Amino acid sequence: MLNSSAPSPETVWDRCLRVIRENISALTYKTWFEPIKPIQLEDDQLTIQVPSQFFYEWLEEHYYALIQRSLENVIGPKAKLVYRAIAEDESGRKLQQQVIDVSLPDTEPVPIPAPPSARPTPVIDRSPARGAWKAPNYSVLNPRYTFETFVKGEESNAFACAASVAVANNPGKTTFNPLVIYGGVGLGKTHLIQAVGNYILAHDPTKRVLYTSSDQFTIEFVESIQNDKVREFTNFYRSVDVLMVDDIQFFSGKEKTQDNFFHTFNALQQLGKQIILTCDRSPKELKGVDDRLVSRFQCGLTTDVQPPDYETRIAILQMKSAEDGIELPSDVIEYLARNITSNIRELEGCYISLLAHCSLEGKEFSVELSREVLHNVASIKKSQITIQDIQKVVAGHYKITEDLMFAKTRKQEIAFARQVAMFLCKELTGNSLKTIGMHFGGRDHSTVIHACKTIEEMVAKDAHSLSDIESIRRQLNFMSQ
Ligand code: ADP
Ligand code: MG
Repeated sequence: MLNSSAPSPETVWDRCLRVIRENISALTYKTWFEPIKPIQLEDDQLTIQVPSQFFYEWLEEHYYALIQRSLENVIGPKAKLVYRAIAEDESGRKLQQQVIDVSLPDTEPVPIPAPPSARPTPVIDRSPARGAWKAPNYSVLNPRYTFETFVKGEESNAFACAASVAVANNPGKTTFNPLVIYGGVGLGKTHLIQAVGNYILAHDPTKRVLYTSSDQFTIEFVESIQNDKVREFTNFYRSVDVLMVDDIQFFSGKEKTQDNFFHTFNALQQLGKQIILTCDRSPKELKGVDDRLVSRFQCGLTTDVQPPDYETRIAILQMKSAEDGIELPSDVIEYLARNITSNIRELEGCYISLLAHCSLEGKEFSVELSREVLHNVASIKKSQITIQDIQKVVAGHYKITEDLMFAKTRKQEIAFARQVAMFLCKELTGNSLKTIGMHFGGRDHSTVIHACKTIEEMVAKDAHSLSDIESIRRQLNFMSQ
């Protein structure tokens, strides 16, 4: 029975989507997750509606682990999922019909063995909405991210890949500690470090392997402070055998979190535990991160990943299509590889979008259709304004440096620019208040609400401020065209 204080299916699904969104590209999200409608929540069972049977099959085949993980995060270990697909009759009319009733099994598909000491509570709580800090689960990795599914390029990632294999074979025992992999988005950093984790676990399932992101670490740290659990938090992070922290650039400006991480880092290193980090730039170029932490980051091996060359892009498309059991014509592979050069996530996203078009609309793979898909992708990509874009443009507009967006200072003109940026982030990006606050030096969501209110009131009263904000909006729109 649903009691009156139970959350709605929309709220629960929305929380699941937050976890899902962090793990896939914007295009994949748009293609496969935006069309889903949550329709019912009863006890631990969530029913979602998908556009077709094919859609359901694709989700189950490709995103099963991710969906399951997110549901368990939000609903708990007994989470169940029921799909309802929309079927079509012969005349093409859409009929709503419950065709599938497949629940996620009660037990996890891959049992996670208990490490030697007492395990923390098995419920993963990575949902920022819940608030209270609970130890995250070990060994929550994407099973698709392995060395077997990672294509090694001649130049682009060969060294990073070799270093990762060395670490996977001897965690904590090589001089590559920490191993830091840096480079632009979608170049395989997360895949590579999770491959290390999957490899270590496959060879020794008792190892406590923890994958997290600097954002997640920060959220948990803040929650642990709020709940008076800093000691438990700290002890937990010091108890792992392998600690992987993705995207450490987001530690920037978060001094207290950095301090806690610094001590955890040292403790783990002294115990001979392996640390693996990724960053969007070389640690040397990190701004807003304490020098002593940066120098720690550099005391192992730092290596980069570069955009893949043409041959690697071809190999990646061949591998992905073989994995999916799909025969992509070589002219289509060549077309995609020639036209998508910047990163692998985008290459993969276009390939998936092409599959979706062919399957949903019953079209053949062709260069013509690929061209259409690429065109769509270009427009989706351009309409995505990020928090960083806004910080940059607002800082430029008010002639302050970007660092001040997440600095502690309360100087009036800086605080004002920061409020304008927060307001625009809420208006123009899909990020939660919590995420926005975090990107402004770890401020909490009430600060963001306050900023939005202040600016809203100000523009309602004052024509000069309104035109100021309009001009920033125009600049941002211009960037995104
Ligand atoms: P990053 O963390 O650098 O932003 P990801 O590791 O998330 O990038 O990679 C983006 C996508 O591209 C993932 O789906 C990943 O599996 C795929 N990918 C990246 N590099 C490779 C590679 N060398 N071989 C196969 N797939 C790759
Ligand atoms: Mg990544």
